[in-house]
Amino acid sequence: MKRSLILSAALLVVTGSVQAQKKINQDSLVKEAAKTEYWEPVPKLVTPGKTPADAPSDAIVLYNGKDVAQWQKEKGGAPGWKIDKDGALTVVKGSGNIATKQGFGDCQLHIEWRSPAAIAGASQSRGNSGIFLMGQYELQVLDSYNNPTYVNGQAGSMYKQYAPLVNACRKPGEWQSYDVIFTAPRFFSDGKLQSPARITVLHNGVLVQNNVEIKGHTEWIGQPKYSAHKDKEPLVLQDHGMDGGNPMSYRNIWIREL
Ligand code: MG
Repeated sequence: MKRSLILSAALLVVTGSVQAQKKINQDSLVKEAAKTEYWEPVPKLVTPGKTPADAPSDAIVLYNGKDVAQWQKEKGGAPGWKIDKDGALTVVKGSGNIATKQGFGDCQLHIEWRSPAAIAGASQSRGNSGIFLMGQYELQVLDSYNNPTYVNGQAGSMYKQYAPLVNACRKPGEWQSYDVIFTAPRFFSDGKLQSPARITVLHNGVLVQNNVEIKGHTEWIGQPKYSAHKDKEPLVLQDHGMDGGNPMSYRNIWIREL
């Protein structure tokens, strides 16, 4: 009896010292791990929208189906586009491009668009519009559902620069979305390019541009090139206007400055 008590006591001492050693090891691991942790700055809180298509709490809502208060003609004055009964903002042929009153640089943009259900025209003459980041760099909007055209000019292309990775176009008359992450170009004070713009685009949730390097201002004819501009420039929506197949509509446009 006495002997077993002594053995039990010895066992307790050994177990205790093993546990103490384990604790020391654990503490030193935690200390080591802490060397690669940082706690500040704490990311600010943003309340997400109900769905990823809905504006989060820190977004600037550019169009919500009610008014065009955030917009003007590209050259100034009230925009000539019309708001339909369903809240869609639709191009009025010949009324010209519209531009945000506010300028933007680096941003996250959500925008929804629809080509007319009644198909008119073909190739670039069918459902053509465009989203010009900083008024310079065109993310093409086109009805590319069974509508062959040059691939670096179809929906989801960076016009005349990059074809989309895939064609994720919905049918004419259906709403579609672009989600864009855009990094503005930087210029030196003498106007020379410091770093080009970059863009990532999801078309209807599908990746179509993967952080591509924009080659310069969008050109219809000739090679793109950069011309220095401000850090923030308006977002511009295109009235393609060259024929009758482009009464394009927009809705649910919001932007987050990055
Ligand atoms: Mg266009």
